[in-house]
Amino acid sequence: MKTDTIQHYLSPDGIRLTAADTSRAAAEAEVIHHLPKMSAAIMAKAITGAAILANDFKNHEGVSFKWITGSPLGNIHIDAYDGHYVRGYLDHPEAGAGISYTTDHEADLVSTKGQLFVTRYSLLKMPYTSMVNLSRGDIAAGLTEYLNTSEQTLSAVSLTLKINEQGAIERSGGFLAQLMPEGNMSRFAGLFEQLSRWDVTADGASKQSLEALITEGKFELLEEAPLAFRCTCSEERIHSTLMTLPRAERESLLQEPSIEIVCHYCGKKYVIRNEILRKWFEEEQKGVQ
Ligand SMILES: [Zn+2]
Repeated sequence: MKTDTIQHYLSPDGIRLTAADTSRAAAEAEVIHHLPKMSAAIMAKAITGAAILANDFKNHEGVSFKWITGSPLGNIHIDAYDGHYVRGYLDHPEAGAGISYTTDHEADLVSTKGQLFVTRYSLLKMPYTSMVNLSRGDIAAGLTEYLNTSEQTLSAVSLTLKINEQGAIERSGGFLAQLMPEGNMSRFAGLFEQLSRWDVTADGASKQSLEALITEGKFELLEEAPLAFRCTCSEERIHSTLMTLPRAERESLLQEPSIEIVCHYCGKKYVIRNEILRKWFEEEQKGVQ
């Protein structure tokens, strides 16, 4: 499949397929957050997972994960939004240092006593969050568990990484296939019973590729968009957050010549000088009276 895209398909058998290649987004996350290889792999898969879950592209669906791993990794935070942007961070990426990438190690780190909170929102829906207690498994297994319990649609999730000999991620991608209410169940089973048959990061000529899956399932492309890592942080948002602080905290911030706020999601550093901060707080006071 084309790198760094998200693609939505539908088959005449009533199967909805969303595939995403997150190679560049995963590489960016790895650099921004200085991720050890194992943590970079987890981040890559979680980013792909959020991207493919946001499959109601017509209504600009967004999906956020708060993935409580129960392991030293802490929580995984991911947002997929506007149909083709993703961002995310790990609480303690250093917990992945010195661990080689295997799906077994992945399961140890993401679902020791895992709980997954998924928030969905779109033009049609107010944000709503559902939670699932995770059994031990990798990220794809966790997402499948979420879809089966919370959404009760027959779903297949496949997440794949191509990792080179140096341990670096060369390709990251995956797909979500869902049976529509009127869909053909045996056709779905025929295509997705053995998920290892498919690998969207495989070369287009390979029998495992997305191209091969599209041909076999007679899928038709509905929508394709470029996919990228992008953050939503801005000075305006920092401003709104600061306005929620109680007086005592404001006073203590005003003791400093400047304050520094670092965005968890993208690492961008905002420095706000004392006179600006003072002005913001004063403006708000005036606004209130
Ligand atoms: Zn940011």
